[in-house]
Amino acid sequence: MKLLVVGAGLFGATVARERACKGDKVDVIEKRDHLAGNAYTEEIEGIQVHRYGAHIFHTSNKAVWKYVNQFAEFNRFTNEVIANYQGEIYNLPFNMNTFNKMWGVITPAEAASKIAEQRLAMSGKQPQNLEEQAISLVGTDIYNKLIKAYTAKQWGRDPKDLPAFIIRRLPVRLTFDNNYFDDLYQGIPIGGYTQIVEKMLDQPNITVQLNTDFLQNKAEYLKRYDQIVYTGMIDEFFDYQLGTLEYRSLRFETELLNMANFQGNAVVNYTDAETPFTRIIEHKHFEFGKSNPGKTVITREYPVNWSRGDEPYYPVNNSENNHLFKKYREFASINMPQVAFGGRLGLYRYYNMDQVLAAALQFLDGDFFAS
Ligand code: FAD
Ligand code: UDP
Repeated sequence: MKLLVVGAGLFGATVARERACKGDKVDVIEKRDHLAGNAYTEEIEGIQVHRYGAHIFHTSNKAVWKYVNQFAEFNRFTNEVIANYQGEIYNLPFNMNTFNKMWGVITPAEAASKIAEQRLAMSGKQPQNLEEQAISLVGTDIYNKLIKAYTAKQWGRDPKDLPAFIIRRLPVRLTFDNNYFDDLYQGIPIGGYTQIVEKMLDQPNITVQLNTDFLQNKAEYLKRYDQIVYTGMIDEFFDYQLGTLEYRSLRFETELLNMANFQGNAVVNYTDAETPFTRIIEHKHFEFGKSNPGKTVITREYPVNWSRGDEPYYPVNNSENNHLFKKYREFASINMPQVAFGGRLGLYRYYNMDQVLAAALQFLDGDFFAS
């Protein structure tokens, strides 16, 4: 059986590897000039640089953690994000350190009562959007200083027009715990993410072609392969014939600086409206600053509107887009049964890396092409 995998990100690489291990011949094509999709890391001055923004691996899925650890050793990095609001520094996610700095409260009971006071307007109401959800979780002060402008910059729209689930990604805790994630396992692969995909694809029955865009030769590929796994945008695949899904794009501005330590933390979020970027990451802190003592690499992340041809970093999962995506899925299953869509773009879901790996392993368990 000959399979074509389009896209050498984590979804495509997992499917390619597992099918190759079962004896299938797999061809992988990737339109970029490197492997690993958005998780790609490259070494600059001895520092592993996350080219497409901070990538922290975290999961509570033991099978996924075991799976990914076959390909790399992970360090003990814990993401502890700092928020800078007009020069005031707060800890994220929202926890007792944040509440203490914001209100001077000392005990969990004091923090809980402050939040309860600030969410009175929401009492008894089911949150309908991100703003209502945020206020009902942490109250108005935190919403106004740490969420409102950051979210508006990130998504290019008012938080009232965004789905509530986005803010539920962040934990709210009445403990002094600055860990951004609640997951059981967390870390950064020592030596970066790219090696993971390199190792996955290093199989005698896998071929890999970079700088190769499926859509440039779509008809030819469809003729040549009877099974295709496609991890690019589903709407682009169909030439947007049912409509255009919305995405959010980013511009990354990376700088090599002649100093040991720029900001003292891997991730600093800028939560005010005036700063045009959302965050600065300082890559060496993912590796505990053990690398180059005289240099550091930082990246500023600017959210930008997406239009056709731009990099689609985030799906915008509101109900209209989700509805359109469903139409594409139905259309695909009828008109393109030999193509399975997967990954963050193919499934149009705001997936983390562990969820992408889990989805790929689940995809391999079900016999998609037999149905
Ligand atoms: P991708 O990595 O996007 O791979 C798809 C590949 O397909 C790409 O390389 C693309 O070039 C290729 N492709 C597309 N169309 C074609 C075509 N027509 N022909 C050939 N090739 C094509 N996850 C976490 O777990 N932790 C984090 O901290 C985290 N931080 C993130 C920060 C940012 C800024 C972003 C954008 C994402 C972050 N993620 C994080 C999510 C993570 O990047 C994704 O979950 C994961 O990379 C998705 O893998 P994928 O294989 O589905 O897609
Ligand atoms: N968020 C915020 N302020 C912050 C960090 C996050 O308001 O300082 C909100 C914002 O709406 C963001 C969401 O929380 O889109 C999820 O944050 P996360 O860090 O998970 O976003 P990602 O890493 O996916 O960009």
